[in-house]
Amino acid sequence: MHDHLAWHDQGGGRSFYGLFVENGRILDTEDVQLRTAVRRIVQLFGAGVHFTPQQNVLLTGIPDGRRAALEAVLGHHGVRSAGAISSVRRWSMACPALPTCGLALAEAERALPGVIDELERELERLGLADLRLTVRMTGCPNGCARPYTADLAFVGRSADKYTIFVGGSVLGTRLATAYADLVPRHRLVARVRPLLERYRAERLPGEGLGDFCCRVGSDELRDDAVAEAAP
Ligand code: SF4
Repeated sequence: MHDHLAWHDQGGGRSFYGLFVENGRILDTEDVQLRTAVRRIVQLFGAGVHFTPQQNVLLTGIPDGRRAALEAVLGHHGVRSAGAISSVRRWSMACPALPTCGLALAEAERALPGVIDELERELERLGLADLRLTVRMTGCPNGCARPYTADLAFVGRSADKYTIFVGGSVLGTRLATAYADLVPRHRLVARVRPLLERYRAERLPGEGLGDFCCRVGSDELRDDAVAEAAP
């Protein structure tokens, strides 16, 4: 599976640039003016704008000779290149949830970046920073960010509490199963830490996190999770 980020040849002397958009939200913040950068690129280069199923944006029809000029616009507005984004963030995705969706029971889009910050630190500590895994978060069980096919997912169940699912795949071709329920947001990464440690110790060559969870089995993993949660 390819997320089409960074530069790709489009043919006919043109290129397209895959721009990472965290959780699909194009906005300006104090540090990063993503919205302004996209508007400027459309104005300057006449770029086409296409959205991807991974909530990113493809800026198309850029003359090959203007690649550096487009990168300069992104850099000027504080937008990071694809290579500067961690693997776990690059493949993460959340639904809008609060305050946009009236069905939301918990935060998702606004909460996932902080959870990913924690996961980045944990994966770095375990030597798994390059691991490609899909992490998803939704504000309710309707699952609009496709949590049920992800390697690791957090599904909102009540105010600030989530069910953790594991065992999907990067390709999204397998259903995940529940690993732990009603986990407070601030404990999400702590609850999956033992799983990540076990994965690091017992994985087979080339085996992804979801593949590993599927091989070990949801019953055994749930027993681990229950033991971890015990006082
Ligand atoms: S998963 Fe739930 S909270 Fe998120 S957008 Fe869908 S309905 Fe709304």
